[in-house]
Amino acid sequence: MGYTSDDEKLLDEAYQDLLASCKKICKNDEDWNFIKRAYFLAKEAHQGIRRRSGEPYLLHPIAVAKIAVEEIGLGVKSVVASLLHDVVEDTDYTVEDIEHIFGPKIATMVDGLTKMSGVFNADTSEQAEYFRKVLLTLSDDVRVILIKIADRLHNMRTLQFMPRNKQIKITGETIYLFAPLAYRLGLYPIKSELEDLCMKYRFPEEYKQIKRKIEETEVARQEYIDRFCAPIIETLDRNNIEYEISGRIKSIYSIWTKMQRKQIPFEEIYDLFAVRIVFKALPFPSEKTQCWQIYSSITDIYAPKQDRLRDWISMPKANGYEALHSTVMGLDGAWVEVQIRTQRMEEIAERGFAAHWKYKKATLSQSDDAFDNWLKHIRDALSSPTENAVEFLDNFKLSLYTSEITVFTPKGEQRVLPFGATALDFAYDIHTKIGDKAIGAKINHKIEPITKQLKSGDQIEIITADTAKPKAEWLNLVTTTKAKQKITAFLKREQQNNVENGIAIFEEQLAKYNITLSGRVLRKVIPAYGCINKDEFYSKIGAGIISLDNLEKVLKSSSKSKILKFWKLWRDTDESNEQPSSADHDTASDDGSDEFVIARCCNPLPGDSVVGFRDPATGKIFVHKATCDELNRLASQFGKHIIKEKIKWSQHKAVSYLSGIELRGIDRMGLLLEIIQIVSGDFNINMREIHFGSHDGIFEGQISLYVQDAEALSSLMDKFRQIKGIDSVKRIMEEHRD
Ligand code: MN
Repeated sequence: MGYTSDDEKLLDEAYQDLLASCKKICKNDEDWNFIKRAYFLAKEAHQGIRRRSGEPYLLHPIAVAKIAVEEIGLGVKSVVASLLHDVVEDTDYTVEDIEHIFGPKIATMVDGLTKMSGVFNADTSEQAEYFRKVLLTLSDDVRVILIKIADRLHNMRTLQFMPRNKQIKITGETIYLFAPLAYRLGLYPIKSELEDLCMKYRFPEEYKQIKRKIEETEVARQEYIDRFCAPIIETLDRNNIEYEISGRIKSIYSIWTKMQRKQIPFEEIYDLFAVRIVFKALPFPSEKTQCWQIYSSITDIYAPKQDRLRDWISMPKANGYEALHSTVMGLDGAWVEVQIRTQRMEEIAERGFAAHWKYKKATLSQSDDAFDNWLKHIRDALSSPTENAVEFLDNFKLSLYTSEITVFTPKGEQRVLPFGATALDFAYDIHTKIGDKAIGAKINHKIEPITKQLKSGDQIEIITADTAKPKAEWLNLVTTTKAKQKITAFLKREQQNNVENGIAIFEEQLAKYNITLSGRVLRKVIPAYGCINKDEFYSKIGAGIISLDNLEKVLKSSSKSKILKFWKLWRDTDESNEQPSSADHDTASDDGSDEFVIARCCNPLPGDSVVGFRDPATGKIFVHKATCDELNRLASQFGKHIIKEKIKWSQHKAVSYLSGIELRGIDRMGLLLEIIQIVSGDFNINMREIHFGSHDGIFEGQISLYVQDAEALSSLMDKFRQIKGIDSVKRIMEEHRD
């Protein structure tokens, strides 16, 4: 079969080792046969091929399968897919062959793994495209990406056989994408190992130095840990807790990054190690309570550092991590971090995703899961093809590590906020009063709007003003639950206060006219002020949006509205011809012989001086304003169709005419409000729509509204002209009704 006897020996050893690992995942003969078949095919397919180390290639897929089952906790299908992961890529076998032998599920997984390999060009965008392909598999089957991480881990473990240029390329990809991905999928040990391996090849000197120092201090450290743990062990034993306690040293890479970040030597890193307690939780009370009980007994021994308590049990990290971290004052005046977690939490911390799902199935209650949300977010991001690959990747990478950001108060106090938090979130995080009064922020000593999104490491000082208060729009500018809740609470309170004030003000005004508040009164005033219901009406009065200066007029005009003017068009040829007839608001006929149509180009209103133009095609008389340009154009070309007789408006039918007004002026606070008040309050006019724009301090508005006649419109326009800052008020002639 193209393998030497030495090869066979090596392979069989590795394979037996893998099978031993698979004991915990194989349930029946079918499972075993599945794995055996995969091994047989891989062995056949890769025969004669060797890795750079000189070993048979097959050792690689076996190793990947072993990582998948042992270090990630995946199952039988994943072992099979791992064994076959390079078969389609490197040999003559096709995905169809795999499907034929192993079924569609395995074929899809192998296909996913195959698509991810290849494309290894230095070109950035192609590189990004490659990563995008890697990530796309997340949306199909997360197992594929987990196997890819296993594959990467084994390649990193055997990187010494690669030429230098390949080492740089592979470590680059690993540190850029695979380590963050492993972190995000909750695979902490793999993430740390990938980082350490990258450092080993990229910064070998620094790596060796730190490694040596860790080894040199090993004995003293272990002795310290033993002394530190002794009283904890005693109290845990006394409480009959089943547990494991150990000192965990930081990874070389994280020590190195900390040394660089803080500009300190190895000796000054105080949190070089942490003490981890993993215990077997009892069925009762809750795991959380049991963790806190242990926390409590430890802090009876060692004093906790107030601001270094991390409760990732109440609020697990986005990657599913749960634990209680506390830093306590240990022996000899040294701070020591203690991590408390249950065996279940430990498995999730070590195995990440796979363990997470295993436990999740058992406890279906965790519906609002941060990890699920993240996966959903990734799926959404991947399915939106708008971004280019490089942009996409940058955004994606941001979401890998920075699910949380750490920012600082002006005094240097740390605050942890979710990624995407704005200065306003920070303000509310400090104190509700600061959030409610916020108007801006100094971020790293630079003035920024309150909407500015924060980055890790930002130092923020909130600028407040006594007159400031939360606005409804703020709800879209915050991400933290706290800020959302506080803003909502304020708005509700304000609304309630406004309603109460509004009722008081309204009743007081009614009393002036000896009118008592009744449903009849409300039915009259609510629409008159353009409100939908009484809550809106009262709260607008309370907030000062509606002034009741013209209440008397409204109360009276409402009753008058039943005897509105009746308008109709008629030809001034026969004075007796004044029969009321049915007509809608843009057609009218006198005695049935002529049909009048209101011309859309100029939209005349009752009271306007008008001229008729008989459309030769339909025979209808189009009524234009006497000043209409379109009429002039028609008149110059088809003069004979102009109706010689005078067209007059007569009072016939209560109708409203759609009309438009254009306003221009200098923009200022409250201008729009004043306009709306005039329309809806003073004039009892129905507004259909309003467009408002402001640029470079210039206000431009178009209002379309229903008016009864030209007189009403022109008096409304006069009122607009009196508004401070308005310098032009025009009637819009081209009315587009749709
Ligand atoms: Mn591989």
